[in-house]
Amino acid sequence: MPITLGAKSLSELTHVHPDLVRVVHRLAAISTMDFTVLEGSRTVAQERLNVAKGVSTTMNSKHIPGKDGYAHAVDIAPLVNGKVTWDWSVYNKFSPIVKEAARLEKVPIEWGGDWKTFKDGPHYQLPTKQYP
Ligand SMILES: [Zn+2]
Repeated sequence: MPITLGAKSLSELTHVHPDLVRVVHRLAAISTMDFTVLEGSRTVAQERLNVAKGVSTTMNSKHIPGKDGYAHAVDIAPLVNGKVTWDWSVYNKFSPIVKEAARLEKVPIEWGGDWKTFKDGPHYQLPTKQYP
């Protein structure tokens, strides 16, 4: 059954790159797991706060809209019984569905959970190579 994106999820997508937005809509159409969009674009001030709190390691975040005016990253969390989960076993099941949605939309995507140093389960971004 397709998932309906809630008002919060949709509003988080307003300043996100259209290719990434397409992936999220495709994800809603194909996903067998419920999810929510935690965050799309982020202001420089918010990012400064995140770095101070230690939840982000860089001011170079793809959540901050770039020269094209769009954020190149989106944080998506799977829901278990309607609640956001931080359980890696759930993220490991959810991420292949997101990657499949990206493949269907022919959009290259990177998952923060594949990173070696600072693993970021909800984080998906457009690669710098294709989207400088
Ligand atoms: Zn993120």
